[in-house]
Amino acid sequence: MSTSVSLSLRDVHLAFGRNQVLRGVDLDVARGATACVIGPSGSGKSTLLRTVNRLLEPDRGDVLLDGRSVLGDDPDALRQRVGMVFQQFNLFPHMSVLRNITLALRRIRKLGEDEAVAVARTHLDRVGLAAKADARPAHLSGGQQQRVAIARALAMQPQVMLFDEATSALDPELVKGVLAVLADLSAQGMTMVVVTHEMGFAREVADQVAFMDAGVVLEAGEPGAVFEAARHPRLRRFLSQVL
Ligand code: ADP
Ligand code: MG
Repeated sequence: MSTSVSLSLRDVHLAFGRNQVLRGVDLDVARGATACVIGPSGSGKSTLLRTVNRLLEPDRGDVLLDGRSVLGDDPDALRQRVGMVFQQFNLFPHMSVLRNITLALRRIRKLGEDEAVAVARTHLDRVGLAAKADARPAHLSGGQQQRVAIARALAMQPQVMLFDEATSALDPELVKGVLAVLADLSAQGMTMVVVTHEMGFAREVADQVAFMDAGVVLEAGEPGAVFEAARHPRLRRFLSQVL
């Protein structure tokens, strides 16, 4: 596994036209820490994650990995360091699970076939799917497909992992297996930002919970402080609706 880095967002602003979506986001995630981002729909959680791997460019502010701004970096190089997993798994349907993972290893990490297969198998094993290497995605459950997507991201040896509602599209009985993979990854010291509606996961796994509302991190702290001693009325109201 590659070494994790710390992640900081400093006063990040971003507008889509006249819609000011991020209004000065500040967030610090220590090396190896897991931050869960919670908050209402439309508050800017996905937009925040997208500024970290430069799928979106902030209008103002900075994004830093280990204290160094990423805004001048080559986006493709940055996306190797920052892995991202979405609600929709986006696997290639016509390729085997193994091929889905080796493709980027060969094209981007420039590994030879044998090494790419070995790396892919290692990561499939890590998410509990070693036996499914030759299956087509359509023959897997949604939870298994999401675990393949996670293995694919991990195979690139990222230094930070971003998860955008990775379990929101799954049937309830499949959520646990995916959250278990995230908890493992967190325990292994990956720096992670997890946007989630799973408050149990946030409470148990996160080192830090950040509540986003209307384009800012309104309150952040240890899970106990956020869930049991929220200061902002907006956060208290949000928690009363989701807990
Ligand atoms: P969340 O993930 O918290 O639900 P988003 O970051 O997806 O919130 O969206 C925040 C706001 O930004 C919403 O008003 C949404 O309509 C707007 N938005 C998000 N992505 C785009 C885009 N690509 N173009 C225009 N508006 C967008
Ligand atoms: Mg979102």
